[in-house]
Amino acid sequence: MKRKTIAILLDGLDYRYIMDHLDQLPFFRRLYEEKKLAPLDSVVPADSIPSWTTIYTGLNPAEHGILESIDYLDFKNKVKGDYSLIQGNTFWDMLGDAGMKVFVFNPFMAYPAWDVNGLMICGPVFEGGDVSTNRSDMVDLKALPPIGGMVDHPKDKEMESFFERTMELSQKQFDAFLYYFDKQPYDFAFLGITTPDRMQHFLWRYTDPGDRTYPKNEKLRESVIQMYELMDKNMADIVQRYQDRYQVIVFSDHGHGRRCEKTFFINEWLIREGFIKDSSVRKRMIEYAKHLMLDFLDRIHMVESGTALFKRFSIAHKVKNAEYVFESGSEAVYAPKFDGTNPYGGITINRDIVTDQADYDELCQNIIERLALVKDDGHPVMRWVKRRDDLYKGTHADNYPDIVYCMEPEYGVDRGLYGRRLFGINAMHWIISGGHRYTGVIMGTRDDISSVGSVLNVHDYLIDISRDGD
Ligand SMILES: [Zn+2]
Repeated sequence: MKRKTIAILLDGLDYRYIMDHLDQLPFFRRLYEEKKLAPLDSVVPADSIPSWTTIYTGLNPAEHGILESIDYLDFKNKVKGDYSLIQGNTFWDMLGDAGMKVFVFNPFMAYPAWDVNGLMICGPVFEGGDVSTNRSDMVDLKALPPIGGMVDHPKDKEMESFFERTMELSQKQFDAFLYYFDKQPYDFAFLGITTPDRMQHFLWRYTDPGDRTYPKNEKLRESVIQMYELMDKNMADIVQRYQDRYQVIVFSDHGHGRRCEKTFFINEWLIREGFIKDSSVRKRMIEYAKHLMLDFLDRIHMVESGTALFKRFSIAHKVKNAEYVFESGSEAVYAPKFDGTNPYGGITINRDIVTDQADYDELCQNIIERLALVKDDGHPVMRWVKRRDDLYKGTHADNYPDIVYCMEPEYGVDRGLYGRRLFGINAMHWIISGGHRYTGVIMGTRDDISSVGSVLNVHDYLIDISRDGD
């Protein structure tokens, strides 16, 4: 009867990718053949911050309300979320309260360390702050590899050293986890590794022949599969080493794949459909100039250096985010900042203007029906369009836009305007070419792995299997 558990979260590990590369991933393949590797749905939007928070607490995103995403193109506009909700409410807190000795290493966002029944070692969410622990008597902080969120932003010419450095860092994090894990007997251990997500965001285009920014030279062609191989090997080692005493559960917060190469101009669609008034000629001209420049930089393969230059102008940030195109407050309907240039988007209805409930319901219904009909070149663009109440129920449901939509993965939201176009290209694909997918993965030593299904169930699952065993 095993009750002791090692739980490992590998950020951004993708189910589909593993299925397509089983021949190169012997341990994952063995688990798959034993029916101990299965898809795991993420949350909406499929981002690390809402998903890890859901995994920690068992709360859905409308219950915990932490929806921010990490903008890899703009660290100045850093996430400022209130993560205090996580402290004391995680699965390791529950298990610790039930008398189990826990060891927690590199839990993303759970910072600084708090009192747990055992040992917690964590790093800052983003830049600033040192590694933190509740037991400084047990931990040599200076000997630890960097942990926590990472903020380096490699350019094309730095990509090989970024890859090597991040692979080494991943291995050091596994080694540091095992070093402290072996020092004391624990009933439950949690390890978080965020490097797979970062590596896929930056390295995807070097590895994907179907990507329009795939380089002709052979640089980094194997980088993503090598990262998966590193994860496969470490998981095999950990299971091999501990399986007599521990059940091992490994999962991701979302999947990963080629990031969108096309954009959908939501505001142009809202204008066309008559939901909002047209923008001023001046705003249209600024937007036109911006997109013309990005298209040009894309064609000459100079997006990285060109946009770096552009960032020096003070207006650039506002222009990049199209913040000024439509200010919220004046329109009955607007497209708020939601998930960046990704397939998830939202539309908010201004209840100061649309006060009547029947009018509101009718407007929602009308937008949903018409948005669902959007086609590009004859193909439907929307996977689904929903009212937020049909997504998740919870006290923070209004952190979501009134209407949420999910496009096919090749499309991302652009809240700017480019003439009368409804679709454009995502020039930033040159810089961030990997993007999150809804389907992550779960695997491990137990036969009931495929019953978990969604990150919404991971918290309860970990507690059930650790307390009761079977
Ligand atoms: Zn993630």
